[in-house]
Amino acid sequence: MFHAYAATEAKGQLKPFEYEPNALGEEQVEVKISHCGICHSDVHLLDNDWGITKYPMVPGHEVLGTVTKAGSRVKNVREGQLVGIGWQSGSCGHCEWCRQALENLCPQMLSTCVSGFGGYADHIRVDARFAVGMPAGTDVESAAPLLCGGVTVYSPFRLYDIRPYMKVGVIGVGGLGHLAIKYAKAWGCEVTAFSTSPDKAAEAAEFGAHHFVNTKEPGALAKLEKRFDFILSTVSADVGWDPFVAALRPRGQLVVVGVAPKGVTGQSLPMILGERVIGGSWIGSPLVIEEMLEFSVRHGINPMIETFPMSKVNDAIDHLRANKARYRIVLKADF
Ligand code: NAP
Ligand code: ZN
Repeated sequence: MFHAYAATEAKGQLKPFEYEPNALGEEQVEVKISHCGICHSDVHLLDNDWGITKYPMVPGHEVLGTVTKAGSRVKNVREGQLVGIGWQSGSCGHCEWCRQALENLCPQMLSTCVSGFGGYADHIRVDARFAVGMPAGTDVESAAPLLCGGVTVYSPFRLYDIRPYMKVGVIGVGGLGHLAIKYAKAWGCEVTAFSTSPDKAAEAAEFGAHHFVNTKEPGALAKLEKRFDFILSTVSADVGWDPFVAALRPRGQLVVVGVAPKGVTGQSLPMILGERVIGGSWIGSPLVIEEMLEFSVRHGINPMIETFPMSKVNDAIDHLRANKARYRIVLKADF
């Protein structure tokens, strides 16, 4: 039996839950979970914001643990190895996207805590291709959030070809946003944090932000017209997008990773006349996760975390819902 925490209804509390896993496939690994981050996507799923949640639902897709069993055909990791699992737990393996190592675009992708029971648990079984070996130098206590939050904000720097001389803005200094600031700094960019929480200014500077803009301050954004090459939005809420589009230089890019419920819009003329772009970015493939983990170790990038025992998961989720997490919560398994 695997032990976990599950919700049985939208917005419900998580309660202890047990399940018998399917037989271990020959290409699967079983992982004993030591840590699991709480991503805001877990909250969206718990609340059924996206209409895809099946109950009982075990959240958790920033999973860190040790391989306890490996199927007979597993080659990339071995028993006893420290591995991480992010949002994705499977793909078809033969479509045009899988063949380009862009498994995150596979139309048949499996998701760790949507297609199965997730990482708020003592064990999990997944396709070994999506269990990534953690590099030497990994900080075990804080690394779990890199598996989803980290790769989600790292990947756009490659995808949108961000260069060190560029001026980058990050909207939202939360779990994803604080890591985005760290990556932008390490990438060599000039970094501006956009936040609704002025009390985050000092820590944003420690993460590497050269400037901090309190977006609640009237007129703060209007002063920044045509300033940024790249703005990455990590907010899970709808904000007014026009001032951010106006803050882009010609050819500037506004890229969203945060799931704003109503989506992102921009007026036509500023987009046309400045050849500005609004785009998105979606987690990252196992190859990009591996690269991001190495980059993080090399640059000393660790998430700033608060730790809760997994048995206190409901308190931890309330803390995140109240936007009080500084900056990512990691659950430590205590079964
Ligand atoms: P989080 O830790 O809750 O951080 C979100 C931040 O957004 C908050 O800390 C806050 O920053 C800001 N914010 C919250 N409510 C706001 C509001 N009403 N108006 C303006 N700003 C607000 O969440 P997270 O775990 O970083 O996740 C962020 C989003 O990314 C979620 O929607 C999640 O589902 C999505 N996500 C997407 C992907 C992907 O592949 N694209 C992967 C993972 C997560 P300030 O206090 O600084 O304003
Ligand atoms: Zn996530």
